[in-house]
Amino acid sequence: MTAITAAITVRSVEQALADAARAAEFGADLVELRIDSFTDDLPAITRLVERSPLPCVVTCRHVSEGGEFDGDEQTRIAALEHAGVGARKPAYVDLELAAYQTSANLRQKVHLVAPRNDTGLILSTHDFRGRPADLLQKVEAMAAEPNCRVIKAAWFARSLRDNLEAFELLRASYKPSIMLCMGEFGLPSRVLAKKFSALLTYAAVDPHTGTAPGQPTIAQLKKLYRWDAINSDTQVFGVVGDPLAHSLSPALHNAGFDATGYNGVYLPLRIPPEYEHFKATVGAWLDFPPLHFRGASVTIPHKENLLRFAHERGAEIDALTEKIGAANTLAVRDVGSLYVTNTDYAAALDAVCDSLGITRAQLRGKRIAVLGAGGAARAIVAAFTHHGCAVTIHNRTPAKAQALADQFAAQAAPLEKVRGEVVINCTSVGMHPNVDETPLPDLARLDPLPGVVFDTIYNPAETRLLRDAKAAGAHTISGMDMFYRQGAAQFELWTRLPAPLAAFRRALEPK
Ligand code: NAP
Repeated sequence: MTAITAAITVRSVEQALADAARAAEFGADLVELRIDSFTDDLPAITRLVERSPLPCVVTCRHVSEGGEFDGDEQTRIAALEHAGVGARKPAYVDLELAAYQTSANLRQKVHLVAPRNDTGLILSTHDFRGRPADLLQKVEAMAAEPNCRVIKAAWFARSLRDNLEAFELLRASYKPSIMLCMGEFGLPSRVLAKKFSALLTYAAVDPHTGTAPGQPTIAQLKKLYRWDAINSDTQVFGVVGDPLAHSLSPALHNAGFDATGYNGVYLPLRIPPEYEHFKATVGAWLDFPPLHFRGASVTIPHKENLLRFAHERGAEIDALTEKIGAANTLAVRDVGSLYVTNTDYAAALDAVCDSLGITRAQLRGKRIAVLGAGGAARAIVAAFTHHGCAVTIHNRTPAKAQALADQFAAQAAPLEKVRGEVVINCTSVGMHPNVDETPLPDLARLDPLPGVVFDTIYNPAETRLLRDAKAAGAHTISGMDMFYRQGAAQFELWTRLPAPLAAFRRALEPK
């Protein structure tokens, strides 16, 4: 069983015990008491370990490996020794490999505390710059040390690919191990530690109280990332994009897995914009079978990259997606082949028709102004021209609007000349965090005023554009109406289960 370990920076006994009590309440299994800056009051350290509501790891991390301790080794040893002199012992004591290797005296003293029957010795190595060149040698040195009960390596991930090496090391190790990637790219190593049978993963009690970059909170691990349900067979999905802070897809799909009992977990997977990053990362994840990477939602700026990747990998691409020229869904079939499609097309049509109470056939003849000419716009222009609408595209880069218009028998016009009964925003202007922006600052002066304004942005659910449109008397449609529909189609493709729409809606309600 992989233990959720609450990382607690000790400032006082009272504060640390209160944090540990909350960690236990949230569902942590262990606490890591970081006594880096709490080495002066030795009896207090003993008391703290004795009174901890959960079994504990005691760590006094040196500044050279990301901690706060910069005293001499005698002070550090005295602090660790006092952690182990009470009636209740720590479950583990963690010491850096580098320090352990440096001094025979230190090793001898540490062995007074760990390893013992009730206290294991974790040897660890941390690199906050990136993967250390000698990572494998360090892991081997820890593995070869008879007194080391647990091997721990943590390094700053430069890309999502670093997680795969962490998983490889967990799979290859014959000792209990902790392999973690730090930073935003390292989240998979923290959530999937359980899938790969790590000894533990670290989590923060509260946002911003973590002890390393990229640590999720206990609540995020348990509630958002389905910790209790994860096992070695869990199928892995994610949203690929950049940026991703606005994405509600993890909340949506993980709620869907919860509601249906499907053994899956869905993660944010940020990949920098260039195609080479997309290709290398998605390719590496697909080519690592133990991960069971079964699919992805693909968003800004990778929708066209996904299509290119699908061509290069010989994936099956549905004909409509090929025509749209942008894809938002990758699925790995049971036999391992890839299928790529676009669920935005149908989701946008259904969002508009359901909101207006009309059929797709009744769209014929409507005059539609589309703002933007990126991936979302491609699907929407394809959808509405196919259903007989007169579509005009307005984009910051006019050449892109013209190219899209030529492809789908639409018109292109400058952004200042927006006209139409229905206006659909397919730009990212107004999206979180830039919620005060709007692609149509002069909406109230449009002549004629549009009767319907649909903003595909779903975070926030009500954008400034929609607020302005409402104030001008237009019927408004939120991107949320499209978002959960495109997500439902993805969910059904991946799981072959009906999408639990009620659970999706609940997951998207503002908290
Ligand atoms: P994309 O391919 O990157 O396209 C972005 C578009 O926005 C481009 O046309 C770009 O113009 C324009 N744009 C960006 N910044 C701008 C600015 N400052 N001023 C004017 N125009 C600007 O992105 P996408 O995948 O199409 O996504 C676009 C939006 O659709 C996002 O907000 C996304 O959340 C939303 N979306 C929602 C759903 C849903 O289910 N509700 C589904 C898909 C997409 P240039 O061509 O000049 O760069």
